[in-house]
Amino acid sequence: MTGTTIRAITPHVLMAELSEPFAYSQAWYRRRGAMLVEITTEDGITGWGEAFGPPELTAPIVVWLAPLVIGQDAMAREAIWQALYNRLRDHGQRGLVVEAISAIDIALWDIAGQALGLPVHRLLGGPLRLEIEAYATGFYRRERGDHLQYLVEEAEQRRAEGFRALKLKTGWGLKQDIALTREFRAAIGPDCGLLVDCNHAYDATAAITYGNAVADCDIGWFEEPVPPEDIAGYLEVKARQPLPVAGGEASFARWGFAEMIARRSVDILQPDVAACGGISELKKIADMASAFGVRVNPHVWGTGVTLAASLHLLAVIPDNPPGLFPRPPLLELDRSPHPVRDEVTSMPAISAEGRVRVPEAPGLGVQVDRDALRRFAV
Ligand code: CA
Repeated sequence: MTGTTIRAITPHVLMAELSEPFAYSQAWYRRRGAMLVEITTEDGITGWGEAFGPPELTAPIVVWLAPLVIGQDAMAREAIWQALYNRLRDHGQRGLVVEAISAIDIALWDIAGQALGLPVHRLLGGPLRLEIEAYATGFYRRERGDHLQYLVEEAEQRRAEGFRALKLKTGWGLKQDIALTREFRAAIGPDCGLLVDCNHAYDATAAITYGNAVADCDIGWFEEPVPPEDIAGYLEVKARQPLPVAGGEASFARWGFAEMIARRSVDILQPDVAACGGISELKKIADMASAFGVRVNPHVWGTGVTLAASLHLLAVIPDNPPGLFPRPPLLELDRSPHPVRDEVTSMPAISAEGRVRVPEAPGLGVQVDRDALRRFAV
C-alpha cells in the first residue's frame, strides 16, 4: 500500500429546483442536478469527478464499480479505466456506464495532479495555450414572454460579459427555426459569432432544408442536426447543405468516436469529458481526430468540475491544422440556470475579451463547497 492507494469512493447526487423552467428541443428542465464523485487516498488527497447524465442513474453504477477501485493505486489511471470498462464491456459500451467511468477517471487525474503538485494540463504534456476563447451556451425556451425578445436580451447580456460568440438553440419546428435564426442574426449584428444547435430535432431531410435556408447567416457550425445513431444521416447533411456539421456529445469511448472520425460524419467533433470516458479517453479521441484532420471542440455542460477538466484538455488539444495562425478550440460556457454549479463548485471568470484561463493550481484546481454539497444532497 502506498500513499496514493484509494481508500474510499463516494458518489454525490445533487439536485436543485429551478425558479424558472427552461426547455430545449427534447425536454423541459424544472430541476437541475449533478453527480459528483469524491475519491480519497490513504494519504488524505481528495479528487473530484463528475458524470454527465441523470445523477440518480449514474451514482448506483459508481457504487457497483467501487470494489474494483478501492485498494488500487490512484496513479494507475489507465489500468483502472481498462479494468472498469472491460468489466462492463458486455453491458455498457455507451451511455450511463461510460459516464460513471468518466467521473472516476476525472477524479483520478485530480488526485494525480495534487500528488505531484502539478496542474492536470501539465501532466497531459501541456500547455499549448492557457487562455481559451469561450462561447455562450443558453438561449433556451421559457414558459413566458416573447421568444425572440428574451433571446435578444440574453444576447446583449452575454456580449456585455465579454462573449464574442453565442450558440442559439433551435428545434422548435423547421419554419419557426429558420425565421428565428434569421431574426436572431439580424438582431446580434454581423460581428458576433453564431452557432446553432437543434439537439437532433431534425431528420436529414429537414436538416438539409434548414442549412440551406440559413446559408447566408454566417453560422460557425450546425450542432447535432440528426440523432447520434444516424451516421448515414450525418453524412447526407454534410453533403447537401453548406454549414459545418458538429456532433459527439452523445457518443462514447474511443470506439464510438472511431466510427465518426473514420467515416468523417462530422466536421467538428464534440466529446464531453464527463460522458466520453473522462480525461484519459477524451485525449485519445482528440489525438485520433488529429490524425484524421477533424476539428475538436469539447461539449461542456456541468459544474465547475467538468469545466475545469475541459479547460485542462483545451490546453492540450492539438491545433488542427498546425501553423503560425491556427484556429484554437473554443470553450463551451453554459450560462443557463444551474444552482448546484454556482454554489457547490468554484467557477473561473471570463475576461472582457471573452477568454477563460486554464487553472494552474495542482490537480483540476476546482474547489468544492461542503456546506453547499450538503444543501443540495438528495
Ligand atoms: Ca449540444
